Amino acid sequence: KVRVRFAPSPTGALHIGGVRTALYNYLFARQHGGEFIFRIEDTDSNRFVPGAEEYILESFRWLGIPFDEGVSFGGDHGPYRQSERRDIYKKYVQELLDAGKAYIAFDTPEELEAKRQEIQNFQYDASTRGMMRNSLSLSADEVKRLLAEGRQYVVRFKIEPGEDVHVDDMIRGDVVINSSILDDKVLYKSADELPTYHLANIVDDHLMEVTHVIRGEEWLPSAPLHVLLYRAFGWADTMPKFAHLPLLLKPDGKGKLSKRDGDRLGFPVFPLEWHDPKTGEVSSGYRESGYLPEAVINFLALLGWNPGTDQEIMSLDELVELFDITKCSKAGAKFDYVKGLWFNREYILMKDNKELAPAFDKILRENGIEVPMERVEAVVGMMKMKKINFIKELWPLCDFFFIAPEAYDREDKFVRKNWTETAAADMAELAALLEGLDDFSVEGQKAAVDRWAEETGKKPWNPWRVALVGTGKGPDMYELSAFLGKEETLRRMRKAVE
Ligand code: GLU
Repeated sequence: KVRVRFAPSPTGALHIGGVRTALYNYLFARQHGGEFIFRIEDTDSNRFVPGAEEYILESFRWLGIPFDEGVSFGGDHGPYRQSERRDIYKKYVQELLDAGKAYIAFDTPEELEAKRQEIQNFQYDASTRGMMRNSLSLSADEVKRLLAEGRQYVVRFKIEPGEDVHVDDMIRGDVVINSSILDDKVLYKSADELPTYHLANIVDDHLMEVTHVIRGEEWLPSAPLHVLLYRAFGWADTMPKFAHLPLLLKPDGKGKLSKRDGDRLGFPVFPLEWHDPKTGEVSSGYRESGYLPEAVINFLALLGWNPGTDQEIMSLDELVELFDITKCSKAGAKFDYVKGLWFNREYILMKDNKELAPAFDKILRENGIEVPMERVEAVVGMMKMKKINFIKELWPLCDFFFIAPEAYDREDKFVRKNWTETAAADMAELAALLEGLDDFSVEGQKAAVDRWAEETGKKPWNPWRVALVGTGKGPDMYELSAFLGKEETLRRMRKAVE
């Protein structure tokens, strides 16, 4: 059974690249009838940020990406927060020590720093461990004495040099790295009695029966170490398959997209607005900027993968069907922000007016307007095709539906051009005609007004627009007057000819 996981560290807001990683995991799980796990990797207490875990969960709730198992979802492989699994890790660290595959090192930070000063490109490995203070270089008695004294130590993984380590990657194929370039990574620190990311990650993926590790390219350099750890534990047979996803690049393709880039370049890089509890800084989010979650998902899905056709609009269900992890690109994906705007526009056009109305209703209320939801829906329906990227852009395009023009701006180009000598007389005549109509629907008005226009040779539509809107914007005139209703339509027309 396919089991994948998204395993963020709660060190701050969730980066949009992390959302893409989670999305690909989700698509992979769904298309294989598998399970998707949410694990919190919080073994680095120095980098823990309060509120981050809740922020991440809220992000996925908003995006509509559900998990099957994990922190806040439950399951049989818990606990799913690494800080709650200390005893489990201790046992496995001991196992490696007992098997001679890891060793204890007492070097203080100062000693390590001194070595780095002394030896250029110092690396703690087979070639240097003999000159350091560890259980391989010290006598057994000395080690015992230091431990009895309560000295702080770390446990390091003993990497055998000179071996080509193969990582079988679903996207990149056979990635080979020689073990000589790897250092003896720290697996555990006595100071906080916690493992490091590497050990906890491998132990958890094994115990949680993860079958596929799908994560960002930044973890590719760690993958050989992970392969060696699986082997050291004797878990090579059930080792998960790896897929390292391409990096997200800045819009100009120059370098990795960073958390800083977002508001600096004018777009969000976080799903939700983020209030940094340490700095007090606020970063913008896709939700608060007015994006539809479906548009964000569609946009992200295509950063690093495409269906091999020119289809761009895909629902989550279609993505589940079409997504193919092996077809992900190896090269980084440019974060084409403008394309994100286009997706939002397309999704606004595709969405039901009913679903869009509450967002516009909120903006109306902010502008002091309270009308029944059907009226809000009607306006959204008439106006959303005006190339808007966000629902909030509707307000300046739509204010006249709710607010009658105060005074007519004679300087306005459209007014100057269309409010001709005969406009006032024509409007008076048209108002009289409309007043007598029983059927004020779009069709009812259209039939009567078109007939009148034909008989008289008049072209009332633009001056009529001046009267109802005050300028040259808005939908079809009949739709507008039907929306306003007879009373309001006549009121505005009479005011215009005063
Ligand atoms: N905790 C790691 C992160 O924050 C997870 C990496 C992995 O998926 O192995 O990205």
